[in-house]
Amino acid sequence: MIYYKTADEIEAIRKACHLVSRTLGAVAQHIRPGVRTRDLDRVAYAFIHDLGGKPAFLGYKGFPASICTSVNDAVVHGIPGDYELKEGDIVSVDCGVVYEGFYGDSAYTFAVGQIDEEKSQLLRVTYQALLRGIEQARPGKRIGDISHAIQRYVEQRGFSVVRELVGHGIGRSLHEDPEVPNYGKRGNGLRLLKGLVIAIEPMINAGRREVYTDRDQWTVRTRDGKPSAHFEHTIAIADQGPEVLTTFEFIECTSALSVV
Ligand code: MG
Ligand code: MG
Repeated sequence: MIYYKTADEIEAIRKACHLVSRTLGAVAQHIRPGVRTRDLDRVAYAFIHDLGGKPAFLGYKGFPASICTSVNDAVVHGIPGDYELKEGDIVSVDCGVVYEGFYGDSAYTFAVGQIDEEKSQLLRVTYQALLRGIEQARPGKRIGDISHAIQRYVEQRGFSVVRELVGHGIGRSLHEDPEVPNYGKRGNGLRLLKGLVIAIEPMINAGRREVYTDRDQWTVRTRDGKPSAHFEHTIAIADQGPEVLTTFEFIECTSALSVV
């Protein structure tokens, strides 16, 4: 079931997205060697509550935290804990909130201090792949145009696209139809219409695309142990094209963490 949103509903989603974006900005200020991923989760939890929202992930299918923190070979769904970030790590922070009944969802992969060239390239390519996907999100295009643009950009640069996890519709629920894969054929899938709101979220591996789920039952990791990156925006399809409802401005204005 696809729910097309009214202008008022999109405004409500925009508020949730604003809170998500500011939360990622608050988390960004704490990314440094020696910080535990649990500390980042505390920052996010407090920030979201102070601004009147609720963390969407906390308790979702039993997930125990407000954000996912996925370090190096972890693709997504990492559980914040005692792990201390160290120089050279990359950590993806994925955050969802519900605010006045509507959801927002966004993710950013941070470099911890100096990172090697492979990781640096992986961050740039994943970030750019997200932008390529967003570019396709306009009326008359199809889901497959988004998927194809991301896959093509990534594979041309020698990286691989995770197949097991995909983007999604979002609104009154965190995960709605349609699925938004990061691989696929141009011209295939649902035709995009004004009012559709989706989260586009490429999960890109430096090595092979195969992944497995850790013994903790949550963390998805690369099989070959190579690093993986993840960037996500929530966007609305508008007459004039994609309208990005989340923003990385709170991350990129305050830190030297920007990948582009
Ligand atoms: Mg997310
Ligand atoms: Mg998502």
